[in-house]
Amino acid sequence: MKKKIAIVQALLLTACLFFSGCSDPHPSGENTRIKVVTSFYPVYIAALNLVDGVDGVELQNLTQPTTGCLHDYQLTPQDLIAMEGADVLVINGAGMEDFLSKVLESYPSVTLVTASDGIELLEEGHDHDHEGHDHEAEGHDHSEEGNPHVWVSITNYAQYVQNIADGLSRADPQNEAIYQINAQKYKAKLSDLKTKMHGAIDSLPNRGIVTFHEAFGYFAEEFDLHVEAVIEREPGTDPTVQELIETIDKVEESGCKALFAEPQYEPRLAQTISAETGAKVYTLDPCVSGAYEKDAYLKAMEENLNQLMEALGQ
Ligand SMILES: [Zn+2]
Repeated sequence: MKKKIAIVQALLLTACLFFSGCSDPHPSGENTRIKVVTSFYPVYIAALNLVDGVDGVELQNLTQPTTGCLHDYQLTPQDLIAMEGADVLVINGAGMEDFLSKVLESYPSVTLVTASDGIELLEEGHDHDHEGHDHEAEGHDHSEEGNPHVWVSITNYAQYVQNIADGLSRADPQNEAIYQINAQKYKAKLSDLKTKMHGAIDSLPNRGIVTFHEAFGYFAEEFDLHVEAVIEREPGTDPTVQELIETIDKVEESGCKALFAEPQYEPRLAQTISAETGAKVYTLDPCVSGAYEKDAYLKAMEENLNQLMEALGQ
């Protein structure tokens, strides 16, 4: 009997995963009172912590958990299905979801919550003067908005969590107490993590890092690390041969012994530069994709700490 139930459960789970694209850990049900949609992974993970224990919340992510950053993202028809019946849409802001502005006109009653509200933005191309100017000359979308990767700093992410908690409280005032308590609990964990990371990173003798895209500006600022070069500014934009040569020169000049690839990208380019410069390849995770679980951000940062200690701790 137990076996039969297990088989049925397995089948149901498979069917559920098949039809939903695994994207919906809080499936819509009869007792859905409020539907909250998040734009992408780090926003979803923050919201997942905040809705814990709140009855009748359906939480859904607009994009697939494997998507990564939303630079130049094109919405799919499946993404738009997630918007059906949405009461609240939580976005990162700072130019990350430029593709949504048109879409939002079709959902005038949706409450928009911007997680990055009030967070001071770094300029894009920070630490990279000439690249920054190139950006401006091209009239790049993000040049006026600043670097959108605010959540990669734990301090900013705590603010991000609070902004989302406040937005959810406004949209669903009867559960304000739960959202705020969840925010306090989660922020306490983040604060502990930050203290632990400072304790380890602050005394590292080497502070120079070379990263794969511009995701680590805020992280570097938080822990006083120096981003000496960015190998590839954004996914899908390979550097030109000239840029590659410049990057190799920069890595050699900086004396950096560590290149940080991201789990979301092909390590090929980092390996090329590694072969040319002798610097070793490690991983830093900007927490833009992964499993839909509450501790995903904390785990990613713990692993980032391990990688940094291994790379810079000699
Ligand atoms: Zn990015």
